[in-house]
Amino acid sequence: MPRFIRARFLLPMSDALGRDRRIEDGYALWEGDALLEVGAYSDAIGARLIRDHGAALEVVEPTRVARGVTDTAALVRHEGVLLPGFVKAHGHDHEPPIIGLVKDVALTGWLDGVVNPFTGFMKREQQRLEDLLGRTPQSVSYLKARVDDLYYGITTSMVHHCNHSKYFADDLVAAAETAGTRMIVAVGGQDRHYADDLLDTVDGALERLDGYRARHGHKTRVTIIPGPDQLFSNGPEMMSALKDWSRRNGTLLHFHSSEEKRTTAWFRETYGMTPIAYAHGLGILDSRTVVAHQVHSTEEDLQILAETGTRIVHNPLANTILGSGMPPVVDMLERGIPVAISTDGSGSADNQNILAAARLASQYQKARYSRADYLPAQQALEMITVEAARILDIPAGSLEVGRPADLVLVATDTPNMTPTRVTNVVENLVWASDGSEVRVVVAGGEVVRQGSAFHTLDLARILEDVSTLSAEFDAYRLTAPEVRGTGANA
Ligand SMILES: [Zn+2]
Repeated sequence: MPRFIRARFLLPMSDALGRDRRIEDGYALWEGDALLEVGAYSDAIGARLIRDHGAALEVVEPTRVARGVTDTAALVRHEGVLLPGFVKAHGHDHEPPIIGLVKDVALTGWLDGVVNPFTGFMKREQQRLEDLLGRTPQSVSYLKARVDDLYYGITTSMVHHCNHSKYFADDLVAAAETAGTRMIVAVGGQDRHYADDLLDTVDGALERLDGYRARHGHKTRVTIIPGPDQLFSNGPEMMSALKDWSRRNGTLLHFHSSEEKRTTAWFRETYGMTPIAYAHGLGILDSRTVVAHQVHSTEEDLQILAETGTRIVHNPLANTILGSGMPPVVDMLERGIPVAISTDGSGSADNQNILAAARLASQYQKARYSRADYLPAQQALEMITVEAARILDIPAGSLEVGRPADLVLVATDTPNMTPTRVTNVVENLVWASDGSEVRVVVAGGEVVRQGSAFHTLDLARILEDVSTLSAEFDAYRLTAPEVRGTGANA
């Protein structure tokens, strides 16, 4: 059945049509997961679609999908802007239950204070929590992460699945399949400087990856890649072996780097070089390596990143809240280093409002360089759509014929978004939106959300379960053993 949606504004964010193309009164038509038509709407086009598809045409309205349309008057125009579903290039789906906990501390204090205790708590008390919740506690976290993504219009995410979570990627994939969103699972690992009970051997880490790939590698909307936590917590043999695996299997490699100053200082003391120079020495940096953060870079680091084609994911919400600092994004872009903007996990961010991440990234760079012309709204929006998809090497982030039907409709008639016209629609998305204006989400051709109705997720139960799980963790924290030693700050 071909499906149709029409909106007051359309932003295809497409290299073929022009990344900055703004269309007034636009529409998209798709069948299955493939876009058939994208462009400016007219009554003649509407009449043709009804003639060609007859009663088979389905129209996505604000609260329902109408079937059996026979008149162009039924081709409802949404008061909003239609654009590709947002692409979140770095996040962690185990964090939704810990939003707002252990704030006002730096990265290592936060990892030791809440992330590792929480993921360890879920694993240690697995059976009791599963009996209490009626499903695994990990599933509860991962399903809530899917709710968060759909709430903010994210249809593709790369989930960096570190810590104790690395044992539970099957639950993660199941949550993505339930929600209907596309996911790259970066399977985490650590073999040094971390809580003893989750240290890997190289063989063990490779075996885990092979297992996940065997179970999920054939799925069109799921990709399994190696995602070692960070260079600090993975020795040289591990990093080299995982990069070899990614080369053998034609995947990306993903890890955190240069996020907090003291970890970077540890590399200088231990190896006499920065983490990026160290990674370059291992031969693991190339255009298929995606590095999260890279807050602290030397001139030499930037040269290495540019020469090797390494790709960066900037996470301004987490970087500012944790006091890590902010990377020189404009310097990176001027050297040709590809940069995406993302949210990071909801525990450090503490939300998944990817438009707010784009806004903060732009705002900070303007202030940092005293240059109001840096990182305009158009470019910031590209960095969460078309550019983020290019960095992740996936056919998303643009509305183009033949591409997957991943779309989001953002209302433009709310008080904060009024007045919106074609001349300011991109600017309003970045500067005026509060992220809550998402009205329709289509993922893989399926209408997964309309207004407050989440069609693929049991919203009420997920919200109740995540509250129960979070309260159980609060109780556990009162007597939990202290966790220390995650990073160089310990
Ligand atoms: Zn992260």
